[in-house]
Amino acid sequence: MKVLVVGGAGYIGSHMVQMLLERGHEPVVFDNLSSGYRDAVPERLLVEADLADEGALDAVFGAHRFDGVMHFASFIQVGESVREPAKYYRNNIANTLNLLDAMRRHGANNFIFSSTAAIFGEPDYVPIDERHPRRPINPYGFSKFAIEQVLADYDRAYGLRSSCLRYFNAAGADPQGRIGERHEPETHLIPLVLQAASGRRSHIDVFGQDYDTPDGTCIRDYIHIIDLCDAHLLALDRLIAGAPSSAYNLGNGNGFSVKEVIDTAEAVSGTVIARNVAARRAGDPARLVADASLARSELRWVPRFDDLATIVRHAWAWEQRMASGAKRSA
Ligand code: UDP
Repeated sequence: MKVLVVGGAGYIGSHMVQMLLERGHEPVVFDNLSSGYRDAVPERLLVEADLADEGALDAVFGAHRFDGVMHFASFIQVGESVREPAKYYRNNIANTLNLLDAMRRHGANNFIFSSTAAIFGEPDYVPIDERHPRRPINPYGFSKFAIEQVLADYDRAYGLRSSCLRYFNAAGADPQGRIGERHEPETHLIPLVLQAASGRRSHIDVFGQDYDTPDGTCIRDYIHIIDLCDAHLLALDRLIAGAPSSAYNLGNGNGFSVKEVIDTAEAVSGTVIARNVAARRAGDPARLVADASLARSELRWVPRFDDLATIVRHAWAWEQRMASGAKRSA
């Protein structure tokens, strides 16, 4: 398959590109390198361009006939989206419309959209299945919710078929340690905890321990990046085979608290990680856990790395590499 991977130099996108190559497919990466890394993908695959640039989109769609398009290029920080909604609506909505309209102009179909658990807002129940009401509570969640609606309308009106994959908490790294998570600034729990374990940070802030959960800290469903990428390939295969548009919640169905994540990181790294109890972070639901049975039954998705220790172990191998690189360049 020839696949356009938009945002392919970022965390999830670069793992997707690697998997596509390993399975004998032909990815083309479209990335403006605003938060991705040039060295995360083979240079020959990279088209360095911005989704705001319709000419660049026309050029890439004119040069290739894509079997599918995967879209990973978006801003992802909830807190920042509250402070700077314009940035989120411009990039996550307007730029995605540019991409979809370029697909229409060039007759491209089969769109895999990186959606999020944040479209559900404060859940009525967990685990969260696809029937759960969608009520986002921040601009990030709204931006993804808006595109899910756009995709339903584009399918009805233009026949553009899509699959919306609602990620819970993507984590972990390439099991062979070639690539991993490198957000700048980093805001995600697992990489931050591991930076504290490696000495790149003094401690980890625990955002609230007065939630209505067994140990008082927030519960999330961490899903290994490789399992996430597997789901993308399965979803694309299904669309190409003629299946209708779809949406799937992707997680392991196991919730882990912030404290449990830190405990696991201590066990994996063999270190003691200093913890500081801090205030709750605005917009954090107490508990987000996926019911991914639809992905398991329809896509025949079977997660391979569904235990937290394995996810943390792979992230730890990557963090050690990053920490030793930081030491060398210091
Ligand atoms: N969290 C934390 N300290 C941090 C970063 C995150 O306690 O320095 C908590 C956060 O409040 C949430 C969980 O860890 O309950 C996962 O947060 P993350 O930002 O990794 O992902 P999100 O759930 O926001 O997508």
